[in-house]
Amino acid sequence: MDRVREKQESNFQPPTSGLQPPATDLQKSVAFVTLGCKVNQYESSALAEMFRARGYQVVDFKEKADVYVINTCTVTHLGDRKSRQLIRRAARANPGALVVVTGCYSQVSPGEVLEIPGVDLVTGTGDRSGIVEMVERVGKGQKLNAVREAREFTEFEELPAVAATGRVRAFLKIQEGCDNFCSYCIVPYARGPLKSRDPEKILEEARKLADSGYREIVLTGIHTGAYGKDKMNGPGLAALMEKLAKIQGLSRIRLSSVEPMDITGELISLLAQGPPFCPHLHIPLQSGDDSILAAMRRGYTADDIRRLVGLIREKVSDVSITTDVIVGFPGESDEHFANTYNLIRELKFTSLHTFKYSPRKGTPAAKFPNQVPPEVKEERSDRLIVLGEDLYSRFASRYLGRDVEVLAEEGAHCCPGMIQGHTANYLLVAFPGDPGLKGKFVRVSLQKLSGRLLTGGIII
Ligand code: SF4
Repeated sequence: MDRVREKQESNFQPPTSGLQPPATDLQKSVAFVTLGCKVNQYESSALAEMFRARGYQVVDFKEKADVYVINTCTVTHLGDRKSRQLIRRAARANPGALVVVTGCYSQVSPGEVLEIPGVDLVTGTGDRSGIVEMVERVGKGQKLNAVREAREFTEFEELPAVAATGRVRAFLKIQEGCDNFCSYCIVPYARGPLKSRDPEKILEEARKLADSGYREIVLTGIHTGAYGKDKMNGPGLAALMEKLAKIQGLSRIRLSSVEPMDITGELISLLAQGPPFCPHLHIPLQSGDDSILAAMRRGYTADDIRRLVGLIREKVSDVSITTDVIVGFPGESDEHFANTYNLIRELKFTSLHTFKYSPRKGTPAAKFPNQVPPEVKEERSDRLIVLGEDLYSRFASRYLGRDVEVLAEEGAHCCPGMIQGHTANYLLVAFPGDPGLKGKFVRVSLQKLSGRLLTGGIII
């Protein structure tokens, strides 16, 4: 699962520009705010498209709107808290507006959400294709709970595909749900069973993305690596990627996150072939201690991870392997944590996202004894963040003095007059250049590393 980073990147809002009719006085407006993972962001863009298709103007969340849609997250208690804050902000922004709450928090806690003053409609992670109709039927103050049981969602719900204009990398949702039930994870309760998307629909959307100028797609989902496991004769992840590789104009195919137990020899051989497959794997480790991994019900050991990472590095040149780690899982002692710390340092992951364990109501681990005190979680998290920064700078420094291929994405956030983009193995690079380079592959000679940013000059 693409877990949200502790620091909540930003409140994603679907682009308000692009294909929408000129505003008229009579036209209703809708504003979105989205918490959480790439799947949530992908779905908010699709929901925005559905409102546009019904004549709504999509406006910024900071603006006054007739309808507010908050797409929530519940992967940690911070997700719940932030969701409630944004719901209250919407209700205050325009007391007469319709406040619609959707996503994972409202899926698992609809009653809690409905009690928040100003909320009118609560939906979950399913039945999204009927959300505009529901909005047009519900009246202000009606407080409608339209959430169904997540385990009832057994088919992948197709939502309108959206290609935000002016970008070069797009997220492409290929599956939904998860059947793993790791003991700490609320996601299977929020997203329901594993559902793989029809491969023809995926290929169709990928072609549209390539035709509209996207050079890179990032395959995403709730349990991406399990793609196809719920379908008898359908393609698995590697076979799907081979089909995608035949699409003209698609120069890069990147995987968002793949659980260790889903990485097959087939997938590794595919990545070893090089372009369009990106040599970049995000493999959630969660812990490096066998007894904690067993309590998490992760289904692998530290030695399994050693063998897997060794094999990937042997086969896939220039590969970057990043990871997720949970600190402070119930019962985690200093010794258990040391095993995690040492494994990460030994395997030299390129970078890591650190999460402080957050008990989720309804998950087995929330009732486990020996819950770890917050200050201990904080201290362990800080130590891993420092280790992560050191590992990243060691990995990135190896590229100083080398020429690398970069997909130019946008103006550099750090420096005017510079363009930034990523290498195939996901190094962030900035170089002097003009916006006309966007969407183009350029070769850059790397000269400097400051923080997480590599800089250099274009090789003509
Ligand atoms: S249950 Fe496990 S595999 Fe499934 S989404 Fe949660 S962490 Fe990922």
